[in-house]
Amino acid sequence: MKEAYLLDMDGVIYREDHLIPGALDLIDAFRENGIPFLFLTNNSMPTPEDLVVKMRHLGVEGLSARHFYTSAMNTADFLRETYPESTAFVLGEGGLLAALKEAGIANDPIGPGFVIVGEGYPSLEKLNKAHGYLEKGARLVATNPDNWCPVEATKTRPGAGATAAYLEASTGRPAYYLGKPNAFMFSRACRRMLAHTTTDPGSYRVIMVGDTMETDIRGSVEMGLRAYLVLTGSSRLEDLSRYVYQPTRVLPSVKELAEEIRTGKPAECQLRHELPPPQPRRAGRHQTDIENYRGRYPRPPMTRGG
Ligand SMILES: [Mg+2]
Repeated sequence: MKEAYLLDMDGVIYREDHLIPGALDLIDAFRENGIPFLFLTNNSMPTPEDLVVKMRHLGVEGLSARHFYTSAMNTADFLRETYPESTAFVLGEGGLLAALKEAGIANDPIGPGFVIVGEGYPSLEKLNKAHGYLEKGARLVATNPDNWCPVEATKTRPGAGATAAYLEASTGRPAYYLGKPNAFMFSRACRRMLAHTTTDPGSYRVIMVGDTMETDIRGSVEMGLRAYLVLTGSSRLEDLSRYVYQPTRVLPSVKELAEEIRTGKPAECQLRHELPPPQPRRAGRHQTDIENYRGRYPRPPMTRGG
């Protein structure tokens, strides 16, 4: 069976402003072997064209906008397919605004059908307006459920999930989250990636390569895709026993995958991740939400429900 790859970016291909060793080799291996690939990111701030430029600065030439699919594009696809006549009030940046414009979703500062929350830094004034639209009946949609996003190795920033949670708390209206791990993100990404292949899209085995259990791995498992976890980003090997869903494979980085594709031999350094037997957990389990919340420090999972 032929293979095609969906690739998360931050923590898989680059970290901060540096390419992760092996990333260029992997992309070259895909090109040399005619393997379809698509970069899949929950960051709704950049446009695909912005990402082409970012990758060029990192040393990866020859990519085009069609190699990228963002949660902003996924949100625009969702609205175009399900509510094509809808209007929106947007808390977000260029990537989201451009995707909605392309999808024909008009900005509406009077009576929007949707409040759309993306990555960015909305002012309290905009949050106040969004709150008012939601109270009048607008639906709340977020480009992705990430509560926080990595900035540097030891630094994070609030994500779209945190902004949506603010509005959920203030209005009592639950948000619908696009992006990973929503199956809508993976299904539309697969469709895009395989749209231009000459063979039957159903003849491909799709593999997702990611660094985050709650988004990359969870969504892949739920879509029935193969899920390769690399340890160059947010999830650590010792974290895996916390999750019900598990990756198909765990690899140290994309370097080993590039080598495997080039040589055709399975990587020897595949990491074993055997789950420890279940342990009764009475101590440390609190009876009230307040104590549970306190117990989640120092940091909650990247998305809720993970
Ligand atoms: Mg990542």
